[in-house]
Amino acid sequence: MPVANGMPGWPSPAQPRDMDQLLDLDIDLQQLPKQVNPPDFWQEKAACYGLDPEVFFPTTEEEAGLALSYCGLCSVREVCLAWSIQNGERYGVWGGTTEQQRRRLIRHVA
Ligand code: SF4
Repeated sequence: MPVANGMPGWPSPAQPRDMDQLLDLDIDLQQLPKQVNPPDFWQEKAACYGLDPEVFFPTTEEEAGLALSYCGLCSVREVCLAWSIQNGERYGVWGGTTEQQRRRLIRHVA
């Protein structure tokens, strides 16, 4: 399965899923696309297309590993993360990040 060219800071799917590592992503939000279409425009290209949405809304950060694995293979990851940040998506896994990770990323640039 092809692995998307991601931005620096995202763990590749082959890397261990240590929660400390996951919570310390070094993603530069300034590098994300500025104008992002809604998910209707890109969801068919997503690695999660057609999967059970519950996987992407884990009840704890520790249960996000499966969703993050799909994100690691996703060709629209940057668009997905940009959409979630620009639209204040508070819940669920978006663009290879958990709720907690996005909060940290946003706090970091605020
Ligand atoms: S980055 Fe993750 S949540 Fe976003 S579209 Fe891809 S697989 Fe789905």
